[in-house]
Amino acid sequence: MVVPAALKTATVPPAVLEVLGALLGAGYRAFLVGGCVRDMVRGQAPKDFDLATSARPEQVQAVFKKVIPTGIQHGTVTVVLKGQHVEVTTFRAEGEYVDGRRPSSVSFHADIEADLGRRDFTINAMAYDPVSSQLVDPYGGLEDLQARLVRCVRNALERFTEDGLRTMRAVRFATVLDFELETETFAAIAPTIPIFQKVAMERVRDELLKVLLSPHVVRGLGLLERTGLRAAVVPELPAEVDVTCVARAPADVVLRLATWLWQAQPLVPVLERLKLTNQQVLEVRALLEHRELPPQAATEADLRRWLSAMGTGPARQLLSVVEARGADVQLLRSRTEQVLASNPPLTAKALALDGKGIMDALGVGPGAIVGQASRYLLTQVLDSPQFNTPEQLRALLSKWAPAGG
Ligand code: ATP
Ligand code: MG
Repeated sequence: MVVPAALKTATVPPAVLEVLGALLGAGYRAFLVGGCVRDMVRGQAPKDFDLATSARPEQVQAVFKKVIPTGIQHGTVTVVLKGQHVEVTTFRAEGEYVDGRRPSSVSFHADIEADLGRRDFTINAMAYDPVSSQLVDPYGGLEDLQARLVRCVRNALERFTEDGLRTMRAVRFATVLDFELETETFAAIAPTIPIFQKVAMERVRDELLKVLLSPHVVRGLGLLERTGLRAAVVPELPAEVDVTCVARAPADVVLRLATWLWQAQPLVPVLERLKLTNQQVLEVRALLEHRELPPQAATEADLRRWLSAMGTGPARQLLSVVEARGADVQLLRSRTEQVLASNPPLTAKALALDGKGIMDALGVGPGAIVGQASRYLLTQVLDSPQFNTPEQLRALLSKWAPAGG
């Protein structure tokens, strides 16, 4: 097999080479596998280097001083060498898939060809031994890399039926690499959507967020639409939404989600289904539930009230999202930044009188009236920030009549 020049000249970290060398020296077979081989062929620096070996986990543990049993039941251990962590997985050939989610058993009596045969796509199913420059590519991964194709290993319908997540991964790789889905691979997605729907949403979310953050997100969302995956994950979104705007939002999870889900109805079930963090849910909701920007004619006081109600961070996020969706927010953004540059008081915390100061001024102890007074003072200083001195706030309080008081 002709080994591409990019693969021969790719840099492999010394710790990874040392782990490979030690396994080979102990008489086992060992290869770089999966994403790192794909990325090296493309001339890109891999995110991480995964090793596959004929050594069983306990045999790997015997070769090295420090080994963490990270996923020993799946045959994966982490070798710690020179402060580097290297994942080493014993060659696997998976047993029957019972429910479209997980193999029912894992057999360690396999060789590298069998190990590559259980992988998802041809471009992810290559193994490379940099010591002897040997490339193992039984499924034509090299050819598909050159043709920029995402193609299932062997039969696409079978691969997608074994593990429904692979449909979403196919779209993720096509998006991130800017590749096409090979015809049979594409055609096998729609019929296996019922299997995809059994997959744990955490796994789906991880792939979906990679699509959303990609520079090629518009292609990715188009593929999700045409394969039927979008309707399976977010049926709350109308089919005809224009997704070109999503690429204009900064590559940030919250901003891209808010731009994409702008028309999702209802929104909350979508955010809950996607298993986002609480913080992400709060931020997307804040944007989509307060999507109205102040009008062009807004006064500075209007802008301060908006910033105070929304929060400075969310207000800036909303400007980005509305801009991505096609509105011209230049003027509003520069006016907002101008208002913020003078550092006006926008929260109760920024008031020149704290709770104790308010109680002293009113001659009262702790109680609901303190909160009321603080809200009153905040509305006053949002109108007129120059009032935010202890003396002026005390003067305001002396004339203030609390509601019902
Ligand atoms: P990335 O650079 O984005 O991490 P990757 O190819 O390393 O891409 P991973 O999700 O880290 O992708 O998976 C590592 C390898 O494990 C893949 O290259 C593939 O060979 C295999 N793999 C991962 N998930 C699956 C799956 N669901 N089915 C079959 N093989 C898989
Ligand atoms: Mg990886």
